[in-house]
Amino acid sequence: MELRDLPSIDELTRSIGDPLAVTAARAVLARAREEIQAGVDPGDLAARLEQELTSARAPALRRVLNATGVIVHTNLGRAPLPVAALDRVVEVGRGYSNLEYDVAEGARGSRQDHVTAILRRLTGAESAIVVNNNAGAMLLALAALAEGREVLVSRGELIEIGDGFRIPDVLVRSGAKLVEVGTTNRTRAADYERAAGEHTALVLRVHQSNFRVVGFTEQPALAELAAVARRHDVPLLDDLGSGALLDMSDEPTAQASLAAGADLVCFSGDKLLGGPQAGIVVGRADLVERLRRHPLHRALRADKLGLAALEGTLLLYLDPERALREVPVLRMLHEVSSVVHARAERLANAVGGEIEETVGRVGGGALPLSELPSFACAVEETLVAPLRAHEPPVIGIVRDGRLLLDCRTLTDDECDEVAAAVHACR
Ligand SMILES: *Cc1c(COP(=O)(O)O)cnc(C)c1O
Repeated sequence: MELRDLPSIDELTRSIGDPLAVTAARAVLARAREEIQAGVDPGDLAARLEQELTSARAPALRRVLNATGVIVHTNLGRAPLPVAALDRVVEVGRGYSNLEYDVAEGARGSRQDHVTAILRRLTGAESAIVVNNNAGAMLLALAALAEGREVLVSRGELIEIGDGFRIPDVLVRSGAKLVEVGTTNRTRAADYERAAGEHTALVLRVHQSNFRVVGFTEQPALAELAAVARRHDVPLLDDLGSGALLDMSDEPTAQASLAAGADLVCFSGDKLLGGPQAGIVVGRADLVERLRRHPLHRALRADKLGLAALEGTLLLYLDPERALREVPVLRMLHEVSSVVHARAERLANAVGGEIEETVGRVGGGALPLSELPSFACAVEETLVAPLRAHEPPVIGIVRDGRLLLDCRTLTDDECDEVAAAVHACR
């Protein structure tokens, strides 16, 4: 085909009654022109237009099958939601809701009230507030409690969490002044004591999250920090990052942090908690009230779908056994490896792959050193791109020239979908 053989937009779209046809045809023709100039035949333009129109109508945000073995995978939407949480979203989102209406009083209510009581019950805190995400929670807490004044942070905790989110930057944006305490590997309570003064507004502890300093290290216990904060009459804010509500090896729970003397504790809704994106702050009622009244609260507030999903998730935690069964993140974390092995075996049998021992990860900055024994089905590396292009896309891990499909982060049904995808891509 030569350039002069290309149809006009009119000719290409003549028999197609689609409002998107002209834009799509323009794109198809532009690509065809480039291909002809590069000496490539552009093929069937009508078929291409059809494809272009189909993909223009396909949702861009869609589900994928996570065969990476990383449970809280930041690039893959972090926590898959419990069914009970999704049910709340559908119920609340479908029609009107009492989001900011007090049904008993027939008057204006607060969107925060729907999750405050259950967060208090689950963590033992006096009060709670929920915002858009944990970075927002930190920004709000720092702005409300320390604007124009000093915040003490250990040099070992001035971390970058991911995607350029750095604790020192958030601090500066909140209007607070960062005072670095101690050294990268060793910080003692006495270092905080020495740095505290009349301009100190807050002591901040940041959970080290996605890394560990090993060897000659020292960090004060939270209770020691709480004692320093109390002596200087300033609050202690503990940013847990992941923040579990159930005991989980060495990942601190919000309850434990409050019990050790933190005045406020903040954590994400979509990491180990296994719920929707949210920034949860629990702790002293007078401090939470200052966060509620701060103008940034309005800018950072949680939306009704997130609140509905969060309430649906938190309700499961009232019965920890139920949470372990029904919160996908917890289920994947605690699943015994023989069950994962059986799933890998079934997948391997279905696609003619081999079972490989792998190491799953928690992800989301939690328990960075903890390795979850896991099993994958290994298939040929040439499937990587086709599986990504499949619907739904299948994302695995390439190792030693093979594609590993890790079965810790797949359900039984998803495993069957992966098997079908592998067959379709061969
Ligand atoms: C993940 C994380 C955050 C940010 O939480 P988002 O919910 O992603 O905004 C803040 N602090 C720590 C320690 C974290 O691990």
